[in-house]
Amino acid sequence: MSTCLFCQIAEGQLNAKKVFEDDRCLAFDDVNPQAPVHTLVIPKRHVSSLNEFQANDTELLGHLLQTCRQVAKEKGVADSGYRTVINTGHEAGQTVFHVHVHVLGGRTCQWPPG
Ligand code: 5GP
Ligand code: ZN
Repeated sequence: MSTCLFCQIAEGQLNAKKVFEDDRCLAFDDVNPQAPVHTLVIPKRHVSSLNEFQANDTELLGHLLQTCRQVAKEKGVADSGYRTVINTGHEAGQTVFHVHVHVLGGRTCQWPPG
C-alpha cells in the first residue's frame, strides 16, 4: 500500500467524499473544511508538490484547473466566487505532499490570506 495519503484515496484504500473523478484526476471534500465548500483536486499520479511537475505536464496542470472550475460550478459557488489555492512547501503550509488544489467557497474570503 502507498505511504502517501492522497495516493491511498486515489487508489480507493482510504475513504473520501468524492466530488468528481476521471482517468487523470480526483476531487474530494476536505476532511477539515475551512469554508462551506472546501474540495481538493489532485492528479491521480503521485506528484509531491507544484515544484515536481515536469515541463510536459502543462496539459495535466490545465486539466486540474478545469476540474476546479467544474467543482465550483457543481458546488454552486461559481458565480458567488471561490478561491483556488496550492500550498507549496513548508513555509506555505503544505502538509500533504501530494499536490492538491484547494477549492474554497461559500463565504467571503479575506485578503491578504495570512
Ligand atoms: P495542505 O495543508 O497540504 O495545503 O492541505 C492538506 C489538506 O488535506 C488539509 O486541508 C487537510 O484538512 C486535508 N486532509 C488531510 N488528511 C486528509 C484526509 O485523510 N482526507 C481528506 N479528505 N482530507 C485530508
Ligand atoms: Zn501521492
